[in-house]
Amino acid sequence: MLNVLVIDDSSVMRAMIRKSLKLSGIETGEIYEAANGQQGIDILDNHSTDLIITDINMPVMNGEVMIELIRNDPKTKDIPILVVSSEGSKLRVERLKDKGVAFIHKPFYPETIRDTIKSIIQKEDSDERAD
Ligand SMILES: [Mg+2]
Repeated sequence: MLNVLVIDDSSVMRAMIRKSLKLSGIETGEIYEAANGQQGIDILDNHSTDLIITDINMPVMNGEVMIELIRNDPKTKDIPILVVSSEGSKLRVERLKDKGVAFIHKPFYPETIRDTIKSIIQKEDSDERAD
């Protein structure tokens, strides 16, 4: 079962992502919520997390800064990250993809979340088998 951390400054969006996860049929364990990157980092420090779903544009600490911190910390660097954002800058999106982050544009269909998570998780599995 996947423990998931959902980070978005909109509580409505967090609820939509939570609902998409529920509809997806993916077996989830704990679903943690944070309203900005700093809260997300604090939760990661204290809870074991298998998947991060995050927004980019947030107050206090944005998603891009947070992802940088996560990727630079040996404890969290391998956690799969899915960005769900209305980010329009192609450059920024490419920069994120270079960090091995999956990207979904808002607004999204629940099926897109499901399919993307499944492909991320399967990739993780096959990476482990290849070791
Ligand atoms: Mg936002």
